[in-house]
Amino acid sequence: MTKIGEVLAKALGADRVSEAKEALAAHRVDYWFLAHLREFQGRAGRGPACVVTPRSTEEVATAVRTAQHHGVAIVPYGGGSGVLGGAVPPDGALVIDLRAMNALLDLNETALTARVQAGMMGDVYEATITARGYTTGHYPQSIARATVGGLVATRSAGQFSTKYGNIEDLLLGMEAVLPSGSVVRLDTFPRSATGPQLRELFLGSEGAFGIVTEATLKVFPLPERREVASFAFPTMADGLEAIRRIVRPGWRPAVVRLYDQLESARHFSAHGAPADRCMLLVVCEGPAALASAELRACTDVAEAMRATSVGAEPVTHWLGNRNNVPSWDFFLQNGLVVDTIEVAATWDRVSALYDRVVASLGKVPGLIAGSAHSSHSYGQGTNLYITFAIKPDDYADAERLYLAAWGCVMETTIAAGGTIAHHHGIGRLRVPWLERELKTAYPVLQALKRALDPAGLMNPGTLLR
Ligand SMILES: Cc1cc2nc3c(=O)[nH]c(=O)nc-3n(C[C@H](O)[C@H](O)[C@H](O)COP(=O)(O)OP(=O)(O)OC[C@H]3O[C@@H](n4cnc5c(N)ncnc54)[C@H](O)[C@@H]3O)c2cc1C
Repeated sequence: MTKIGEVLAKALGADRVSEAKEALAAHRVDYWFLAHLREFQGRAGRGPACVVTPRSTEEVATAVRTAQHHGVAIVPYGGGSGVLGGAVPPDGALVIDLRAMNALLDLNETALTARVQAGMMGDVYEATITARGYTTGHYPQSIARATVGGLVATRSAGQFSTKYGNIEDLLLGMEAVLPSGSVVRLDTFPRSATGPQLRELFLGSEGAFGIVTEATLKVFPLPERREVASFAFPTMADGLEAIRRIVRPGWRPAVVRLYDQLESARHFSAHGAPADRCMLLVVCEGPAALASAELRACTDVAEAMRATSVGAEPVTHWLGNRNNVPSWDFFLQNGLVVDTIEVAATWDRVSALYDRVVASLGKVPGLIAGSAHSSHSYGQGTNLYITFAIKPDDYADAERLYLAAWGCVMETTIAAGGTIAHHHGIGRLRVPWLERELKTAYPVLQALKRALDPAGLMNPGTLLR
């Protein structure tokens, strides 16, 4: 056992600490395609030296202080569903796996809040409060693979975010262990003007500023009614304009998802989608009168734009299959390089961004598909969720082509005035572009990192250099 492993086993109990081959292997990668590609090609690093599974905030603090004392890098690990390498540990790191801290601590039915330990899985959290008549309103596609702490730390977005908001809209209070090992608690209020709200430090911090141990989140009564519809538009520009017109006066359907022609054919051709059209799926829910009025308003916009009504089936199909994801193994074994990239822009820019991103991907050698959908909308703009697939002539070239595709999308997005990340965060992959987006604000982020983590041991290489 390593020195730090021995010390932690004494402090927390031998059952909390593991250096077994299986435990280390289970924490060597997250869901980043490139990390899996490197493993597949036998090019992965050594991985972590030790994994600890604390049961309490005090145990997390002890682990952090011990790592600081021994000068060992610390990587908080949730469900390992991050897709940008944020939880891929540097060689010899201490991984702090939060999943043993998985309790719902309180459901306040008067205030509509839930206090949850950071390691609770998203689907367990949702099921636990649904049984009591509430919903989290936060359903990322990875709900069964992600922890509450990970969702906070990556600034995540759920599929129903247009109505319920993203994680930053839902998080009211929290507790975290700082890189020094001290514990900070932020109490819960409906709103407060007590200076900058420090929970923002942890939303999207990806473990670089500390470890989230507890979150207090808004919850919602289960909706009384759900109404669904779908429409086909000739182009993405038309569909995006329809969404803009829906959200502009204040309608907030839970789901407004627009797929380009390629994705519409891939997902919905067997479910009534006309050929060569862009499908718009709409889900409205809440009090019955609101859901009905909202669906009517969406239908009015679609009709005014002469879209074709396709009915409920595409939405029913999506609702039933929305969390199905093939494993990376399938693509690796078939010589493919694939990934998804989420970006966002204001309404005046997003249609041009879509055209430019898809065109730029076309220049990547071996590209067999480049497509996008929009899935999270706001009064001011929307996101684009881009998918690419490349079939390299020589698979030894896979990493270079993967990075080329990412480079195209990042550079095009910056040039078109969009943000390089809508909801997956920065991880390790996007670090080179973050400075370009933040510009004058980047040194502020660096200064915060230095102030909170002077030794640079909290998840080094993730979020910022
Ligand atoms: C199939 C699939 C679908 C996805 N769909 C969505 C989606 O719809 N919406 C969306 O937003 N994301 C989505 N993601 C991305 C991913 O699920 C999210 O980023 C998620 O929030 C990660 O949570 P996790 O617990 O798995 O974190 P991990 O992957 O374990 O970690 C992610 C990052 O957060 C840090 N971290 C983890 N826990 C803590 C903690 N307690 N305190 C501090 N730092 C911590 C890690 O060090 C790492 O940097 C998807 C991923 C996959 C694989």
